[in-house]
Amino acid sequence: MELPDFTEFAPFNGLREKMGAAELGYFELFDPAVHLTGNERSELESGGILRRLDEIKFLPDNTLAIKNSRVLLYNPDENYYRSHREFPTYHVARCSRLEQSMAEHADREYLVTTRLAEDYPLLKLRPGAAQTSDSANSASISSPQNAFASSVAPVSLVLHSLVVCKDCLHKLRYRDYDQYRNRKRGYSQRVLDEFRLQDFFRLYPMYPLSFGGRPSQDKANTQSD
Ligand SMILES: [Zn+2]
Repeated sequence: MELPDFTEFAPFNGLREKMGAAELGYFELFDPAVHLTGNERSELESGGILRRLDEIKFLPDNTLAIKNSRVLLYNPDENYYRSHREFPTYHVARCSRLEQSMAEHADREYLVTTRLAEDYPLLKLRPGAAQTSDSANSASISSPQNAFASSVAPVSLVLHSLVVCKDCLHKLRYRDYDQYRNRKRGYSQRVLDEFRLQDFFRLYPMYPLSFGGRPSQDKANTQSD
């Protein structure tokens, strides 16, 4: 089907005139393979979604994305942090720890989100969940499917505060953060202490990312420099 040439379409041109828009502007056709749907966006903004690292897009600047949105992600397994005696961290870049995880635990699922918060949900294994008699549990056992699910994965959600991964800051040299240079130790510690996701995503805008051939003004700017 051939589409009409909308640049010649009188009602649109009239509207453009009313808006005082001299330029035609720019748009990308919606493509569900590269653009998040409304549903996906709200999933990412609310609970987040579980993904393996090979399902994450690594942008050329080493930040992380799903389709056309930057994201942050973390391992939601509370037991992991407990057994490794680690404070839970989230990742904002393709850091050495994610590289290692990809090599050693390719199946590990991470919780991917665009929600900026202090506390994030972790999945906590409930050992002996089947023996406890709390009402939520007995309710789930009364339903066969849930009983099966809870015997396989007796988990509950707990909110935990997370901090940013130092390796991510180092990978990005975020605000000149350097994990290994002694001379900068005080400065880097301050960058880490003062890290806020809001600031991060001001520097690395979250959404929407454009990968198309946008007729940008970058070239003109470069030439005039
Ligand atoms: Zn990291």
